[in-house]
Order: sequence, then C-alpha cells, then structure tokens
Amino acid sequence: MPSMRAPFLLISGLLVAGCVPAPSTSPAPLTGASALYMPRDVKAAYRKGTRSPDGRPGPAYWQNRGRYNIEITALPPDRTIRGSEQITYMNNSPDTLRNPVVKLFLNIHKPGAPRAGGASADYLTSGVHIDSLAVNGVATPWVNDDNYFTWQRFHLASPLPPHDSVRLAFKWHYDVSKQSGREGMLDSTTFFLAYFYPRVAVYDDYSGWDTMNFTDMQEFYSDFNDYDVAITVPANYVVWGTGTLLNPAELLQPKYLQRYTQSFTSDQTINVASKAEMIAKTVTTQSPRNTWRFRAANIPDMTFNLSDHYVWDAASVVVDDGTHRRVSVQSAYNDTAADFPHMVQFARHGLDWLSHNWPGVPYPFEKTTVVQGQAGMEYPMMVNDESYPDTIFSRFVVEHEIAHSWFPFYMGINETRYPMMDEGWATTFENLIGIADLGKERAAGFFEQFRVNGWISNPSSAEDLPIVTPSDALSASAYGDNAYGKPALGYLALKDMLGDVAFRKGLLAFIDRWHGKHPIPWDFFNTVNDVTGQNLNWYWNSWYFSNNYIDLAVGGVEKTGNGYTVVVNNIGGMPAPVDLEAHYGDGTNEVIHETPAIWAADQRRATVAISTSKSLQSLLLNGGIWMDADSTNNRWSQIKGLSLARPR
Ligand SMILES: [Zn+2]
Repeated sequence: MPSMRAPFLLISGLLVAGCVPAPSTSPAPLTGASALYMPRDVKAAYRKGTRSPDGRPGPAYWQNRGRYNIEITALPPDRTIRGSEQITYMNNSPDTLRNPVVKLFLNIHKPGAPRAGGASADYLTSGVHIDSLAVNGVATPWVNDDNYFTWQRFHLASPLPPHDSVRLAFKWHYDVSKQSGREGMLDSTTFFLAYFYPRVAVYDDYSGWDTMNFTDMQEFYSDFNDYDVAITVPANYVVWGTGTLLNPAELLQPKYLQRYTQSFTSDQTINVASKAEMIAKTVTTQSPRNTWRFRAANIPDMTFNLSDHYVWDAASVVVDDGTHRRVSVQSAYNDTAADFPHMVQFARHGLDWLSHNWPGVPYPFEKTTVVQGQAGMEYPMMVNDESYPDTIFSRFVVEHEIAHSWFPFYMGINETRYPMMDEGWATTFENLIGIADLGKERAAGFFEQFRVNGWISNPSSAEDLPIVTPSDALSASAYGDNAYGKPALGYLALKDMLGDVAFRKGLLAFIDRWHGKHPIPWDFFNTVNDVTGQNLNWYWNSWYFSNNYIDLAVGGVEKTGNGYTVVVNNIGGMPAPVDLEAHYGDGTNEVIHETPAIWAADQRRATVAISTSKSLQSLLLNGGIWMDADSTNNRWSQIKGLSLARPR
C-alpha cells in the first residue's frame, strides 16, 4: 500500500524533553522480545521436531494422506445421491491408529444437529446413511446413530501401525437438501454436490484426530488426497467440478467438444453451450446415462455441480510466465443472471492478478469453475457465488473466493481452528486486488464497510478476543471478525511496516515452506521473524495474541525549536499505522504517515516530530482502513491560545 513517507525525524518511544508528559493512565509497555503464547500441544510438536523454531517444517514433520476412488450416481429430480468409494489411507505418523474418525459433514442437515444458526424445513434431511463399510475387504459394522452428527469414530479390528495403510470401502446415500447453502439443490435439476463423501478426518502432529464439529459456521480441515471421481447422471446433464475432466470426447457431441477444446487456448470467452442448446438436448452423448470422470492429485477436496439447463462458458488464462502454463476458466449459470456472462473474464482477471501480484505465486491448479449458486463459497478449483445486480460487487466476491485457492487450499490450512490463515489472507488479497481494480479510496470503502466496521463499532468483549483464539471456540460476529477483518488488518499493517519487499519475502518463504502441508500461526510468525531477520514478536503479540483494538488518541502537541512534537497514545493497543493530517496557518496541509514501527519500542505511547516553520492550526489522526473505535480523541486544535491538547 502506498505510504506517504514523512520527511521528519521519528522519535519512537522516547519522552522528548519539554514534551507533554505521558498520561498517568499509560500502562507499562509490553516486553518487546517476550516469547509468544504457545498452546501446550503446539509446544509438544516443537519438542518432537515436527515443527522448527525457525518456522520451517521440522525434520520429523509428517502428514497422512488418502487415495479416494469415488463413484456417485445422481438422477435429478430424484434428490437421492448414491455413492461408493474405496479409500486407501496412509498412516505416515509415528502412532498406531485404532479408532479413526470419519467426517460426515452433510449430517449438518439432520434435525437436532449442533448448528450455529436455525434451519428451515427445506434445509433439513435425514443426513448421510452409511449402507456398508468394509475394512481391508472385510465387512465391518457401522451404526448410523441418530445422535451423532458431522463426525463419527469407528473401531479398527486390526490397528493401523505407523507407515502402513488401510483400505476402507464405504457405500452411502443421502438426499440433497431443497434449500441450498454451501451445497444442495439449486433448482430441481441443478444440484451442487460438496462434502458429499465420507472421508477420513485429519490426524495431525499437534492435536491428533480432528473432532471439531461442523456447525455451518467454521469451515474445514482436510488432508491432501488423490481423487478419481466418477459421476453418473442422465444424458443431457453437464457436470462441472474439481479436477481434470478425463473423458470429454465420450461425453460431448462434436460441436460442443470442439468449443470446449478451443477454450483451453482462448483468452476470449467461448460459449460452450447455451441454455437453448442444453434444453434442445444436443450437447451430450445420447446414452441413457453418462459417467463424467474427474481426477485431481494432492488436493484437499472435490466438489461438483450438475445441471440440464445451466449455460456453460469457458476460456483460459496464462498464470505462469516462466512456463506459459494456461489454466482453464469456466462458468455455469442460469441465463437469467445478468452478471454471470462476465464471470469467466472476472475469474481470468482474478487468476492473472493474484498469480502475478499478491500473493504472486502462479495459481497452483489446472482450472477454476464459477457456478451460480447461493453460497459465496470457495472449494478447490470451484466457486459457488450468488448473482448480484452490481457487476463490481460480483467481481469483488469472485476475486475473494479465488484468493482462497492459495489460502487455505494450496497451504493446507486448518480453517476450522485458524481461519486467520484462511479468511484472513483471502481478505488481505481481496483488498489488494480491490485497490488495483477500483482505486485505493473505493477499495478502502468496501473494506471498511464489510471487514472492519462491524468489529470496531461493537464494544462487546467477545469482539476483542485474541485473533489466535481457536475459532471453534467462538461464535457469531466474534468468529467472523477474528476470521476476516482483524487478521487482514494485521497482515496489511505488517506490509505497511515492513515495506513490500520484506513483506513479500516473508509471505513467499512461508508459502514455499508450507504449501501442501498443514501450517499453523506460529509457523508463519516464526518464518517472517526468520527471513526478515527481525524479532517481530512484539507485533505478533499485540495484533494476534491480545485483546487489543484500534483507538489512537492525540496525547499532546508541543512547539519545539524546529516544529512540533506530537504525542500519540495507543489506547486500544493495536500497533496500527496512522496518518497525521497537519493543517497550517497559511492554509496548507501535510500528511505524515507513520507505520506500525512507531509502536516497536512502546506499544502504548509514541512521539512524532513534525519539522516545520509553519504554524500548526489543527491536527487529525486518520487511520483509514485501520478504523478508530473512538475518533473523538483524534483531533487537536490551536484554539483560544491553548497549545496543549488535554490527554484523554
Ligand atoms: Zn472467504
């Protein structure tokens, strides 16, 4: 973010002689180099060497993975989805596993499921029914217990030793819910299938089996698996989804196959199939049922949309200038949506910009498909977005969802526990691409409206819980603000403080060290400390581990020999950047930008020297997107001969 450098001496944390004394309420400064709070299970991971104090994966780092072969049958308007799968699950941990945990996310639809909010009758279903389980080919009992919801353990008759694998075969069925959210029925012949298969939960090095409930608020945590998914649908349905479509020549009639193939080298949007063509039933092969085969390797999840009338657009975009690698960009939508005909180009722009600017890592997958649904939700290689009347807003939302391709999907983030590394980063990139698209002022307006105002204008205690709080322990807006706006403000303030070069170095080192793995916040903090050569624990501590909020105040203004000294008190405690807007007696103005570096030595009080021969008439502290909880103490004015503002 552009910073207006001050041509002034910065005296940080020093009490300048003759300056207004610090208010007596100023608390003792935090100890700069204090070690960050670390949960006991994370400490244990460092002791075991699975994570290194320099921020890298440790020499003993491991993670488990699965190979999933899934077959699904969906025959709309019948809402029942039937599936079978073979999972080969590899135990790379040093532990013997006896009672694996299986995630059954769609049990969120069962009446009585623990849920962050209420549910309409159309949302409710009877959940996931496991019809059979076999372990290493041996039928194994499974109880569909009405009182278990989004995860369930089962017992392995033979424990799974370290460095061995087990084969699990599930058959199951469930009904797609009539009301769609992250997944469900979009209309009677359009189904969005997500979280649709039983999967082995993550077993990791710092907390063992993931037994966090899915309550439709906090999100997901998945291993990197290899998938082959075959989806059988009636003729005249198209299936869009994660991964490479393996058999387009079997599925599409020649004219449509040609358009589809063309899209892989086309910058321009190609309409692969119009609504009229879909309804005329000329697009797909005319066998009674078609099986669409998708494959993706080393990816956290697979998601699909199927429809007999959605419009299909496609193009592609170069994301890697070194290799000239192109990725496919597709969209699927109702022809009533005015914004969706632009969606392939919006998505191309997002992939291009994010690959080349921030995070500045080429998009790591082979395609992206944006589906018109009702979610505003990201999935690997898939986005499910509502249609909006304002195309600026449509683009804003799809850019945010595509930014998730890096965080959490490329980076293997535990979104359920640490959304500061998922939504926090997506919200950061959303702001940065927004500045490129709309200009700084309008992007700031969006950011303040959607990401900051809800937090900073809400004085309740839950709002100021530390960002690093495990978010499965949070609810309502405390979850949302700790997931999105607060961590993004911290990352953006870090960028302001370090400058783009050092910030990029830290971010890219973190991505390079941890992509395809499961980093936690300490890995990020340690990596940035390591590669910048700075101990930023004071900064991490204030932004991510404290109950701080943003409230800066003018503590006082003192005339000095060559200008003025301004005391800025940090009442809320967050080390935020600030602009000092100085208004002089000759009618001129000056903006002095201070990065969070002014809080390095003393997180409660800083002094800023303004070197000027002009007469200072008034002063305003303007935090911009770092909105101030109490702006009444942000002004100072030279009135009635009173040269000192009263400390508040
Ligand atoms: Zn998001």
